Amino acid sequence: MAFNQPKGTHDIYGIEAKTFKKIEDVFAGLAELYGFNEMRTPIFEATELFTRGVGDATDIVRKEMFTFDDKGGRSITLRPEGTAGVMRAIVSQKLYATDDLPLKYYYYGPVFRYERPQKGRYREFRQFGVESVGVNSPFNDVEVVIFALTALSYLGFEHVQLKINSIGGATTREKYRTALIDYFAHDIEHMCEDCHVRYEINPLRMLDCKVEEDQKIIAGAPKIQDFLTPDEQTYFKKITETLDSFGIRYEIDHNLVRGLDYYSDFVFEFHYISEKGENYGAIGAGGHYDKLLADVGGPSLAGVGLAFGIERLYLIMEDNQLLEKEALGLDVFVMNVGENTVDDAFSILTLIRNSGFRADMNMDKRSFKALFKRAERVQAKLAVIIGDDEVAKSVVQIKDLHKEEQVTVAYEDIVAKLDEYLSADEHEHHHHEEE
Ligand code: ATP
Ligand code: MG
Repeated sequence: MAFNQPKGTHDIYGIEAKTFKKIEDVFAGLAELYGFNEMRTPIFEATELFTRGVGDATDIVRKEMFTFDDKGGRSITLRPEGTAGVMRAIVSQKLYATDDLPLKYYYYGPVFRYERPQKGRYREFRQFGVESVGVNSPFNDVEVVIFALTALSYLGFEHVQLKINSIGGATTREKYRTALIDYFAHDIEHMCEDCHVRYEINPLRMLDCKVEEDQKIIAGAPKIQDFLTPDEQTYFKKITETLDSFGIRYEIDHNLVRGLDYYSDFVFEFHYISEKGENYGAIGAGGHYDKLLADVGGPSLAGVGLAFGIERLYLIMEDNQLLEKEALGLDVFVMNVGENTVDDAFSILTLIRNSGFRADMNMDKRSFKALFKRAERVQAKLAVIIGDDEVAKSVVQIKDLHKEEQVTVAYEDIVAKLDEYLSADEHEHHHHEEE
């Protein structure tokens, strides 16, 4: 019997695995530059952490969680996002008990949501995120936005759209909620089924309903900015002014409320629109929170966080020629082509690897023709050829696979010669890039 991957999951290998690693490296490297350190939390947590930390009115908690009882009868949930786990760890480890605030962590790893699989939407996907907890300053909010935009530019993303909004604090949202309930009261019967549920439990979420008919009704709804207190307005203004001072372009989207209940004040989303105008939707999102740590049993410290979906980033990179194909290539392919050459070839291969070059060889017997084809497939730059004649003289042939050039090199000179070829190659590369 053959098995397929479970619905909504995918196997990641080849260029995709390389690119995921690159995305992770770019985000993690930059996060460290910004003073974030890595935190790894469990893949599963007590279900209650998410009902409290994410909020039981959210789509995630209402319908997307992978929840089960363990053998000890505890309700366990595979994490649907990364923030709640980081907050839980900050509380469990009392990390908040320090003068050195904010606490700054980044995380990377799989998250699980029971959704209808479609393009860019999986049941297991990966997120990279950062959290900055403990200081209530608009500069912490702007910091994570600059971080995200910089990381995206390092990955080659050129058409990123930043959407922002302020959803105020709990009191403001309560007033706004009442206003929305009043406004939607006489139209609710014409709206979609999801909106009926949202109307009952979280009317703010009606604002980002995707149903076209509903959109028309939503367009006339009261706007949250008319409910913000003077302090909330000042806070948001400081953010927009700081973004302006860096020349960062953004769009204020009054209907942006985000799906997670813990946000307050500043919320934002990153969207990607390709050169051809194709809209990929949200690739990352985040916001400011003030009660989240307290909601999971910690002190009342404000924070800001964001998360990117790696699968969505990859999809965009794939569609928009942003993948580095040569990332999969070897430096050297050792061709073991004689009757009694495998011992020497294997020693030389090991020496080459120990010198820091990416190398592989054929352990089994193959024809020259097959080996050249393989060298091409693995995108090797150089071939080191070892036949019986070569072993007899303790030499190899080094062939530049791009130039048809071949030289005979003594065993002891192999590494120096490879160095010469491959560093020249690198120079040429840089030269081209500069042009
Ligand atoms: P959406 O509106 O697309 O459902 P979301 O608001 O649920 O997104 P967040 O919870 O903010 O998403 O998660 C952050 C990012 O994770 C998203 O911007 C997206 O890139 C990615 N993401 C969310 N759900 C999925 C999924 N099911 N599969 C792949 N990536 C996802
Ligand atoms: Mg979602």
